[in-house]
Amino acid sequence: MTGPYLKAAFEDSCVPQIVVSKNGEILGVNDQACRLLGVEKAELLSMRHDDLSLEEDFGSLDGLTDLFNENDLQNWQTEQRYVRSDSVVIWASVGVSAIKNNGKAAALLLQLQDITSQKITEEDLQQNNEDLEQFIRTASHDLREPLTTVAGYASLLMRRYSSALDANGIHFLSEVINSAKRMEQKIDDLLMFSRAGRAVPVGVFPLGVAIEEARRAVNVSAEESKAVFHIPEDLPVIQGDRSMIAQVFQNLFSNSLKYRSDAPPEITVQARPSTENIWQISVTDNGIGFDMAHKDRIFVVFQRLHTIEQYPGTGIGLAITKRIIERHRGKIWTESVPGKGSTFYFTLSTVPQP
Ligand code: ADP
Repeated sequence: MTGPYLKAAFEDSCVPQIVVSKNGEILGVNDQACRLLGVEKAELLSMRHDDLSLEEDFGSLDGLTDLFNENDLQNWQTEQRYVRSDSVVIWASVGVSAIKNNGKAAALLLQLQDITSQKITEEDLQQNNEDLEQFIRTASHDLREPLTTVAGYASLLMRRYSSALDANGIHFLSEVINSAKRMEQKIDDLLMFSRAGRAVPVGVFPLGVAIEEARRAVNVSAEESKAVFHIPEDLPVIQGDRSMIAQVFQNLFSNSLKYRSDAPPEITVQARPSTENIWQISVTDNGIGFDMAHKDRIFVVFQRLHTIEQYPGTGIGLAITKRIIERHRGKIWTESVPGKGSTFYFTLSTVPQP
């Protein structure tokens, strides 16, 4: 492509584009960028990139050209706030590529996408999560108090007065004690569920480490049932919270062990790239499986397909798992054949490969 075409590709592109020098001066802008930022082209060309930024974001491009030179990067993706001329703050997803001169990054091409409404939705969601967490904390505290009294007096009755009760009386009283215990467990589960909705700290960790952590956590029941794990060597580096993702694997592994068939459990983890920087992970077992009519219900808080007498549990594990994956901006779904086994699939973001 020659000069005029390249110029048109920059000027007429529907993507807002800005060229910034190594020192942060704005060298070029197209009409879409002027429109997005609400600033005239001539004025923008006399500005520095920092003039468009919030004070706490000043210097956000500093050192980026060196980064391109040192690491031979093709592009860099970031999110950035801009202050429009009418003082409204907008969020942009910014793709940064180096404009090279004699093989060296001399300036940066910024390609902007307005993600303000997405950010507002995320902030609202975050606020909702915090409100929900606060509500659950208060409700749990208020519920626990009378429950402790019920459980305490019922146990006292059993200890001191069981000789005055017949078999039915003892049975009724132990039902009261067991129900109080189950309710305590449910309150703890609800608290755990609400914590799983907390903002995800932006961490980075090898997926294999989280899987190993989960495997260790289920070790006792895995050994008891003579389970065999198949875990691939080639696993990506994930963006997110390691202990939360370890919790996801722990929940899935312990379900595979709990809902096993007569054969020793065989649990297979697979991981493959799906779209750009997204990997699809799966955990497959050879257990009892379930009817796909319930494929959505099992992810709902306290929903179970079995009674507590058949299999212990409160029905919170998959709800927590789903919440953690969604906080990592992933998706989770399942496929199962009764009597053959189940596979739980989910997606996670990986660290971009250079
Ligand atoms: P819990 O195991 O405490 O009931 P979960 O939320 O982990 O809670 O699971 C919800 C329901 O989904 C379970 O009661 C079970 O019926 C079904 N389920 C989950 N994992 C499996 C599995 N690997 N195989 C068969 N059924 C499963």
